[in-house]
Amino acid sequence: MFACHRRPDRSFFWKGKPFPVCSRCTGLYAGYGLGMMLAFIFWPWVSYGAIVLLVPLLIDSLTQYWQWRTSTNPLRFVTGLLGGIGIVGFALWLAYTVTLFLQSYVSTTSY
Ligand SMILES: [Zn+2]
Repeated sequence: MFACHRRPDRSFFWKGKPFPVCSRCTGLYAGYGLGMMLAFIFWPWVSYGAIVLLVPLLIDSLTQYWQWRTSTNPLRFVTGLLGGIGIVGFALWLAYTVTLFLQSYVSTTSY
């Protein structure tokens, strides 16, 4: 989906080896999976409002990028996890909304 910098100092380690993606991307991918499970269990939760779960990730990323502060790997993981859930919730809401629109368009169109 997007490139990860894979910096070892920003990655978790397992048995002395760094993860293939950084701690933030680990959180994002875990969030995608968790978001899908949440969507199956609690279907109506998906909403355009899920996009607000990206706010902590943006704040953590941008304040570090602007060198206002230094983040930590656990914080990168948690904000990535929330962001991943938010992306899934928003994407599913968008797909659902477009599907409903197309269904209503097809059902009202006569040939
Ligand atoms: Zn990454």
